[in-house]
Amino acid sequence: MYSSNMKNNSQRRLISMAEKVALITGAGQGIGEGIALQLAKDGFQVALAGRHLDKVQRVADNINKDGGKAIAIKADVQIKKDVFAAVDETVSQLGHLDVFVNNAGIAHVAQVLDTKEEDLDRLLDINVKGTVFGIQAAATQFKKQGTPGKIINASSIAGHEGFELLGAYSATKFAIRGITQAAAKELAQDKITVNAYCPGIVLTPMWDQIDAEMGELHNVPAGESIKAYLKGIALGRGEQPADVANLVSFLASDKADYITGQAIMVDGGIKYV
Ligand code: NAD
Repeated sequence: MYSSNMKNNSQRRLISMAEKVALITGAGQGIGEGIALQLAKDGFQVALAGRHLDKVQRVADNINKDGGKAIAIKADVQIKKDVFAAVDETVSQLGHLDVFVNNAGIAHVAQVLDTKEEDLDRLLDINVKGTVFGIQAAATQFKKQGTPGKIINASSIAGHEGFELLGAYSATKFAIRGITQAAAKELAQDKITVNAYCPGIVLTPMWDQIDAEMGELHNVPAGESIKAYLKGIALGRGEQPADVANLVSFLASDKADYITGQAIMVDGGIKYV
């Protein structure tokens, strides 16, 4: 009895070391939720970090109900110690870390000339500083473990072209490509890859907000601004979080071991780079 328990325990330990662990920020809704669900389906144990614990807890509960393993962590990515604490919490509950997805981000709709300093600060704090803190926290943990690791950042089509009324947001998404390339070069020697995904028009609460704010500025009803953007998609439909999650699933897998420093489009055919 005792020895069979021992065997079970050591088997369990082996299984939990073999199961990969991914931490996803901004995982309480939209693209982050989609990525969390997909990586859990891929067999990852997932840590879901977000500003609102109830939101990430809901997604984690759904994954656990479906037989996956997920934990929820409250973290604001613009606060460096929150991001490092999220990694510590992940390692303490799930054992180690293999993949870090810097997904959390915000948008802001305004002409460049009307962009207020406080809005610029907020965008830079969350989208840029938050991503840099994520890279720092993840790479520190991977180096401590002495294991390879994968860091995957959220850029955008707006990281390849500045879009009207989204100038400051675009600036932050260009910045993500810059930091992705630099970190990829610096961390390659530690077998840590750093890549980015560049979605197009994903039908999430973020686009509901963009559509509402653009509608107000242009004096057009809700739904009209997004319709104009959707017309420009070659594949003829708006993007779903699962479309983005499929790319992230690949980037998080061993199949992407030889890819680093890239910002890959997943937009149904809007930008051709
Ligand atoms: P969303 O607004 O629907 O969800 C973003 C999530 O991030 C929310 O749960 C929010 O609470 C969380 N978040 C925001 N600030 C945070 C902070 N400081 N700390 C922790 N969590 C925070 O947005 P989405 O459409 O799912 O976008 C996700 C990412 O993809 C963003 O980085 C966004 O810029 C990028 N992106 C989105 C689109 C799109 O069309 N929706 C296109 C290209 C890129």
